[in-house]
Amino acid sequence: MNALTYRIALERKTHHYRVTLTFVAQQAGLVSLRLPAWVPGSYARRDLAGHVSRLTLSQKRNPIDVQKVDINAFSAAVDEGSVTLSYRVYAFDPSVRLAYLDLDRAFFNPTSLLIAPEGAEALPVKIELEGVSSESVATTLPFDGEAFIARNLYAAYDSPFEIGARQKLEFTASGVPHRTVFTGDTSFLDDATMRRIAEDFRAIAEATIAFFDPETRKAPFENYLCTVFLAKGMHGGLEHASGTALVADPEDVVIGTPEYGDFLELFAHEYFHAWWVKRVRPSVFVSPNLTRESPTRLLWVFEGFTVYYAIRMMIASKRKAASSFATSLTELAQRTLTQSARRFESLEAASLEAWIKYYRVDGDRLNAVTDYYAYGALIAFALDAEIREKSEGKASLDDVLRFAYATWRTDPRCYGGIPEAEFANLFKEALGMDFSNEIEDYTRRCVLPDFAKLSGVFGMRFEELPARCDTAGFGAKWKYRDGKVVVRAVSEETCAAFAGLAEGDVLVSVNDQKPVVSEPRNERELEKALDTYFLSFEGKRLTIVVTRFGRGLTLETEGPFYGMRPN
Ligand SMILES: [Zn+2]
Repeated sequence: MNALTYRIALERKTHHYRVTLTFVAQQAGLVSLRLPAWVPGSYARRDLAGHVSRLTLSQKRNPIDVQKVDINAFSAAVDEGSVTLSYRVYAFDPSVRLAYLDLDRAFFNPTSLLIAPEGAEALPVKIELEGVSSESVATTLPFDGEAFIARNLYAAYDSPFEIGARQKLEFTASGVPHRTVFTGDTSFLDDATMRRIAEDFRAIAEATIAFFDPETRKAPFENYLCTVFLAKGMHGGLEHASGTALVADPEDVVIGTPEYGDFLELFAHEYFHAWWVKRVRPSVFVSPNLTRESPTRLLWVFEGFTVYYAIRMMIASKRKAASSFATSLTELAQRTLTQSARRFESLEAASLEAWIKYYRVDGDRLNAVTDYYAYGALIAFALDAEIREKSEGKASLDDVLRFAYATWRTDPRCYGGIPEAEFANLFKEALGMDFSNEIEDYTRRCVLPDFAKLSGVFGMRFEELPARCDTAGFGAKWKYRDGKVVVRAVSEETCAAFAGLAEGDVLVSVNDQKPVVSEPRNERELEKALDTYFLSFEGKRLTIVVTRFGRGLTLETEGPFYGMRPN
């Protein structure tokens, strides 16, 4: 085998990518063909082969039997010489993780499309797109006149393709070309908005490059591509070594709204990842095993720190006022300190369990799943404050991250990533100080940092939540489906839990009133509206009528109503 050549045809009306792979078998024997079980950056099994159908294999135009041998694997006995594998992949996932295809838009992560022979991971990959002009393709892979070329399979997996974008913007940050392309509902993207987004992205990019490399201000990539799919109710991103894929609500790009601030912070988060998880990373992600889950206890480090530093980069780039630091931390504290899960599930456990919990558990989420993003960010803040205090302002968590990146930069190929059990050593090496007790306490033993003391390090004052208000609002998370208000999750020891609400319950009435909630833009808006609504019943007995699995149920609450007042 000297290269893996994929020819991809777009069957837009049926949402199928039709893929033909040719490769050379060096000798006769069994060849095993696989798609990944998960997508790097998103830590849950996706079992991408579930979208594959009509798979055939041939040599010299003679069909060869292919057996399915595992969830994501096929096997065939081949002769020496050229082999052709054909299959199609169903693509109608609007998220950043899989693939999408219709008349308007074509997007794919190669993890969804490139079935590869085992043992061929180091071969160069060629991707040809049938009937698609190369100018309409946005990807970080170079085009050689016929095909897009990746140096190996993993590099191809890490380079999503967006075809036929409606709007594009370009800018240079620290000498590196950056491109952003938009698909979907671009109705809010007028010229002034496009210029403003370019200006804001550039400021964030330059602040991040300067953060990791204050001396030479050199980015670790030669160019950077951000793809943005705008569609109602969407929000999310996935990091890549030289780019990111984002999804956002069309109104998130309306300049001056709080949502626009969130959109910029999403970009800042994914951009930071180009250093922090794509380069400096847990050792298990250096050559990740994509055939099965790859658990690491360090996800809180790579996601939590990234949440914390996205806020810092927003401030450093002057996209947010310095005073918003306290507001952002308050939001994180309200979101996580009010959830009982963090008292029982450590950040390390939450990281390891991400594969079975973070993307999976919904109804019991607030009680059983510690949010390693938001709570990890608060712990990043706590460690940052501890370092500043102990070093009398001479060092900070920034030095730890810069040290880790400088270590990676000395020899990226040999750098073995951060070993699972040795995260605290990084602090010792970077700072010459020992923080292993703090790290052990905060991340393994569920000890809450002394936020009152640590906030003082940053000149802030931390206020405890009132005693009886350790749960936010009514105690339920909601979603809006087909005009109905539906319970998504219930927090224990709250009004919602005392009533006996469960995930999936459809709200019919409260004390004989039908709750009036006009169609919310997003879940945050819905939560806020319902928190306000339930607060109007404070101190009263509540009779809540719901339907559960289609059957009517009347629920009563015994306990007194309490909650945290929304702003
Ligand atoms: Zn992230």
